[in-house]
Amino acid sequence: MIPRSSADFTREKAIQNGYDEEVTEFFERVISDFSDYRFKFGRKFAYRPPRTIMIGPSEPFSELLFLHELGHAVLKHKDFRMDVIRLKMENSAWEEAKKLALKYGIKVDEDLIQDELDTYRDWLHKKSRCPDCGLTRFQTPDGQYHCPRCSEFMLDDNKK
Ligand SMILES: [Zn+2]
Ligand SMILES: [Zn+2]
Repeated sequence: MIPRSSADFTREKAIQNGYDEEVTEFFERVISDFSDYRFKFGRKFAYRPPRTIMIGPSEPFSELLFLHELGHAVLKHKDFRMDVIRLKMENSAWEEAKKLALKYGIKVDEDLIQDELDTYRDWLHKKSRCPDCGLTRFQTPDGQYHCPRCSEFMLDDNKK
């Protein structure tokens, strides 16, 4: 019986997703080295805890983006609720991706990495702003944001 993991990645699917021979061979090498994980094609590069790496359609830096998602998996990242931790996870997944890139002879593009991290920082910044008063909110471990000004009012309201 063919294991599920190897059935998810096929050369045919790689071609359908725009990959050439060289990149397909790179994927195959990584997949055979990380046979504990599951590799599937999807809309974009992503990591689905605990063991699935989604491969998006071919784009510039596909290999690096792929290694980044694999980095999350190797580092066993799973709790994405706390955004501050999330940012640290993004950093460490890129560090892991760089190590893997060296191993597989993939060129590291620092600009790409910084752009990706900036996107997260911007997103974090926007997300943490209170929509009512513009103050920076804080996040509790359940993933909820609280405004130091407005959340206080809400508590007061509840007491009435
Ligand atoms: Zn990431
Ligand atoms: Zn507020």
